[in-house]
Amino acid sequence: MKTSKKKESTNSRPQDNNSEAQCEEESELCPGFKDADAFVKYGLGAVLSATKASAGLPQAGDEYDFYRSFPGFQEFCESQGDKLLHCMSQIMQHHGCRSHIRDRNKLTGIEERFDLVVDSNDVILERAGILLDEADGVNRSQKPIMPAGFQPPKIVVSSWNRKGSSSGSRSETFRLLHAKNVARPQLKFKEKVDNSNTPFVPKIFIKPNALKPLPSYFSNKQIRKERPEDLDVPAALADFIHQQRTQEHVEDMFAHPYQYELDHLTIAESLLSKPEPQMYKPMAETKLSFIDSLEDLVALNEKLCRLSEFAVDLEHHSYRSFLGLTCLMQISTREEDFIIDTLELRSEMYILNEAFTDPSIVKVFHGADSDIEWLQRDFGLYVVNLFDTHQASRALNLARHSLDHLLKQFCNVNSDKRYQLADWRIRPLPDEMIDYARADTHYLLYIYDSMRAQLLESNHGQPGLLQSVWNKSKDVSLKKYVKPIYTEESYLELQRKQKRSFNTQQLTTFRLLYAWRDKLARQEDESTGYVLPTHMMIKISEELPKEPQGIIACCNPVPPLVRQQVNELHLLVQQGREMPLLKAEIVAQKKKGLTPIKKAEVTLFGPHDTSRGSESDNPQLTADEVPIKQGILFSDEDHRMDVDEQKISGLLAPARITLFQVNATPSKSVPSPLTFPHLVILLGFYMMGHHKVLHNMEFKEMITWF
Ligand code: AMP
Ligand code: MN
Ligand code: ZN
Repeated sequence: MKTSKKKESTNSRPQDNNSEAQCEEESELCPGFKDADAFVKYGLGAVLSATKASAGLPQAGDEYDFYRSFPGFQEFCESQGDKLLHCMSQIMQHHGCRSHIRDRNKLTGIEERFDLVVDSNDVILERAGILLDEADGVNRSQKPIMPAGFQPPKIVVSSWNRKGSSSGSRSETFRLLHAKNVARPQLKFKEKVDNSNTPFVPKIFIKPNALKPLPSYFSNKQIRKERPEDLDVPAALADFIHQQRTQEHVEDMFAHPYQYELDHLTIAESLLSKPEPQMYKPMAETKLSFIDSLEDLVALNEKLCRLSEFAVDLEHHSYRSFLGLTCLMQISTREEDFIIDTLELRSEMYILNEAFTDPSIVKVFHGADSDIEWLQRDFGLYVVNLFDTHQASRALNLARHSLDHLLKQFCNVNSDKRYQLADWRIRPLPDEMIDYARADTHYLLYIYDSMRAQLLESNHGQPGLLQSVWNKSKDVSLKKYVKPIYTEESYLELQRKQKRSFNTQQLTTFRLLYAWRDKLARQEDESTGYVLPTHMMIKISEELPKEPQGIIACCNPVPPLVRQQVNELHLLVQQGREMPLLKAEIVAQKKKGLTPIKKAEVTLFGPHDTSRGSESDNPQLTADEVPIKQGILFSDEDHRMDVDEQKISGLLAPARITLFQVNATPSKSVPSPLTFPHLVILLGFYMMGHHKVLHNMEFKEMITWF
């Protein structure tokens, strides 16, 4: 048996081709292998021989060119390369990563493909790490991270395939640490955070650069606070005034305060003609100012008002706050960098509206959608005359639209996004976090110049494309912040996203837990994910524990507020259990014997924000539909599909583990089952063989793996 397996591993796929046997194996975790260990062993063997084979390939240069002169060799290379890319592309798609690796038009070269693979691998490894942590009882989804050295390391994520950094001093392995014991900045806020379940009303009370005056509702604080009974007039008149006022104000209250100005904004001719890109100053030679006093902020505002453009970025925290907190604002001019402590200056930030809404000053952001909302929500700041380099990247149809990519492309700077999810509340800020934040705006004005030049160039000098970027940017600045509102139906929305069916008792419990969580999160000013992560809420709803201890057992680690209020939660679960089940539900339950517990599908995000990927990345699916099956490594779920899954079954691979099984049946069939170990092995192979494998495929051995 042992020898036969070994033989198989070099000559053919280990799976029995007999269709019956295949059917039976459908339910196994690793078909053809007695357990995961055997599978891993086999996989490792395959990777090792692949590496060996790749080392034996003809060398790039003369040797390779010689072989290439034979059409047979060339053809074989082509077809093997395509197969390999197809396989990788499917794995990437399966994990919701950008997957246009196969599309030769979209990527200019091997370098970019390599980056794409590195990124995907990071996402998958991150996900694997989270799943392993979850299995170990550590749940670190959503939690912010801290720089190494700030606290004793708890979780180490090593990125084995990260490209070596040129500096050499940076460790290849980095630590993502949880923030604990960070003082709550909310406690120092002059104005209390408004978590009430009411729509957001703009925070503006003076309106610089107005073409249309600010409605009296905002400018006159007195009126805002007055109630009819405060007025010294007969009751009937007071009612009338009140009615008039509320009718008048409702529209004003929720409008974008700079709607009129933005509607009437025209882009100056000079901004539509070809610029001479102005090189950035080296960061080391650039003055950096940390702004945390009103005096300095006023001086900065005055400085900004004299410029014709500056770059802006924000850092944000969302775990220990209900609505989220803007922690930092970075501003770069052509000469200087500024970092504003927006936790300290939260109530004073509005003074920057003078520069931010001046239509003659360009504000350059990268991917400003969230920033625009955060500025309104926390400071009442608005932007008139925005240039968003993310929109420019889209218009230029660049392969990727992230800031790292632009930095690499235009400035040849290798940025390091590891602090993107850092806990930005900590003070004093560690130097490495300051450097990181600063780099987000330091190069942006040069990128703005270069992109404008490219937009004109790629459009034969015509301003159309550039104008479209200005328009798209304006649309971004017209965005309005919308506060999360709890309604009686909110829980259904969340339940729908989880794609799982609940019986009446489970759904009732889920509804009650949802309401409890929302209320407590608003009251304590914590995120709902901090109060009770969704996957725990689902687990409790599914298991309907009879005892408080059972609730605790559903949560690992136990959120502090769950521990504190476990009796309250227990009452809610009891209330859910008391619901009568529908007849059909009782039948279904009996059929299943013991109620099968579907494991929660944890919604995770990796270090790379795939939601910001281009629309063309997943051509057949909208963002909502991307068939990512997450958190199923230890699932005992049955394989019946629910309605939503059936709808996309032509695109969704059932999650099971096989090795290198490329489906031979034609186009519309289900792609081969691809899972995480699959990709690690395949990409490992890709990494080790480097691109030689893609171009120089001869090697008889290769055929046997596919
Ligand atoms: P950036 O514009 O890249 O500096 O990001 C600004 C803020 O957005 C960060 O401080 C994070 O709070 C948040 N953020 C950025 N990327 C992600 C992501 N992939 N997942 C969650 N939050 C993110
Ligand atoms: Mn940003
Ligand atoms: Zn940033």
